[in-house]
Amino acid sequence: FPRTVLISGCSSGIGLELAMQLAHDSRQRYQVVATMRDLGKKGTLEAAAGEALGQTLTVAQLDVCSDESVAQCLSCIRGGEVDVLVNNAGVGLMGPLEGLSLTTMQNVFDTNFFGAVRLVKAVLPGMKRRRQGHIVVVSSVMGLQDPQRVCLPPILSGVVFNDVYAASKFALEGFFESLAIQLLQFNIFISLVEPGPVTTDFEGKLLEQVSMAEFPGTDPDTLHYFRDLYLPASRKLFRSVGQSPQDVAQVIVKVISSARPPLRQQTNARYYPLMALKAADPSGSLYVRNAHRLLFRWPRLLSLVLRCLACSCLRTRVQPW
Ligand code: NAD
Repeated sequence: FPRTVLISGCSSGIGLELAMQLAHDSRQRYQVVATMRDLGKKGTLEAAAGEALGQTLTVAQLDVCSDESVAQCLSCIRGGEVDVLVNNAGVGLMGPLEGLSLTTMQNVFDTNFFGAVRLVKAVLPGMKRRRQGHIVVVSSVMGLQDPQRVCLPPILSGVVFNDVYAASKFALEGFFESLAIQLLQFNIFISLVEPGPVTTDFEGKLLEQVSMAEFPGTDPDTLHYFRDLYLPASRKLFRSVGQSPQDVAQVIVKVISSARPPLRQQTNARYYPLMALKAADPSGSLYVRNAHRLLFRWPRLLSLVLRCLACSCLRTRVQPW
């Protein structure tokens, strides 16, 4: 029987691409429920689905911030049974902390963290009853790292001016790593997929928000650091090491089809180290001081590092596994 895969946030980006790849699986192993908050945006997905629409793919409304929406969506799935849940929906937030309202920050946690928790709570009783299931979470590596080169377990790192977004992804990692231990007893697997920068609408939406925001109450120095140092560096980072949503989706498909899914899976093997510093110094000072130096003291060196990254991307073959 095909496995029912429920994916959140499929109107664009990684979610849309993942829904496509699973729905077009040559062995038809998946029945995809591609969900989105606003069904008015289903056009692109439906056009891309082609013949899979109504066969291996159905589109459904799902706002991860609403209990009613989650209940309604699950009630439309045959038997209410989800074999694989992919928590993909997410929003970003960039900018100096002083200029962001708590409501805006809470919205990030409501979507990225509690949205995933809400969905898990809804599907878990069924998975436990059936003694099987797989929960995939699209997290993030946030900082710079290359686990293959540093030969150390990957560690998430914070990113300047993305404090709240990074915190929401750290929260997911702590939550799901804890849950994974219990769920193994029920033959349910958790996989945290950790992309680096991905060239989706995500960055564009953030930059649009940032260009319109005034960040009231923020001092001129901080605003200067944010607008004149951080933003250009961030744009360069996306341009130099950004991955396509197709590549990320391909890694997720592999995770889903694995007999022994990994707890953590990075998607971008070309993504280079600041992380080695974090691993080398468990106190964390080495990472914080060097990330600070690169952005605030030696921005030219940062440009050089990014150029090297871009060149090494051309040389390094992507080996997601
Ligand atoms: P995206 O903006 O194209 O996709 C995010 C999707 O989530 C959108 O379709 C959006 O409508 C949906 N969404 C937002 N709030 C929702 C809600 N309340 N209910 C349902 N859906 C909602 O960007 P993407 O890059 O495809 O992002 C997908 C995931 O990947 C996110 O969790 C993001 O944090 C993560 N990620 C992205 C990057 C990147 O650089 N783009 C890097 C690492 C991780």
